Amino acid sequence: MLTCREAEKMVMPYIDEQLSEKELDDFLEHIQGCHSCREELEIYYTVYVGLRQLDSGTGIFDIAGALEDSLDLAWLKVRAARLRRIISYAVEALCATGVVTTLLLQVRIWLQTGFLR
Ligand SMILES: [Zn+2]
Repeated sequence: MLTCREAEKMVMPYIDEQLSEKELDDFLEHIQGCHSCREELEIYYTVYVGLRQLDSGTGIFDIAGALEDSLDLAWLKVRAARLRRIISYAVEALCATGVVTTLLLQVRIWLQTGFLR
């Protein structure tokens, strides 16, 4: 679990989409449970997106909604990454089981054919 200090340092990288999958995972977990960091994110996001709109000259825009969308998307990314990790563990476990089974069958064949006696 991140401390508030660590989470605060990740607010700008989050907005710039520069967090790694692992960092994003930790950051979202923290934001979900910590009201003050969530507020911090909202303030930075509003200012940052607001400034960008001033630059580009686009009109009225739902900034709070944009943050919600951004967080939804980030959660999807994190969930996909978690799922990928689980699948790769499962595949590794299956491979290991396959190797062990093959070895045991081979040993049995050797025992039956008298090779190991
Ligand atoms: Zn916090």
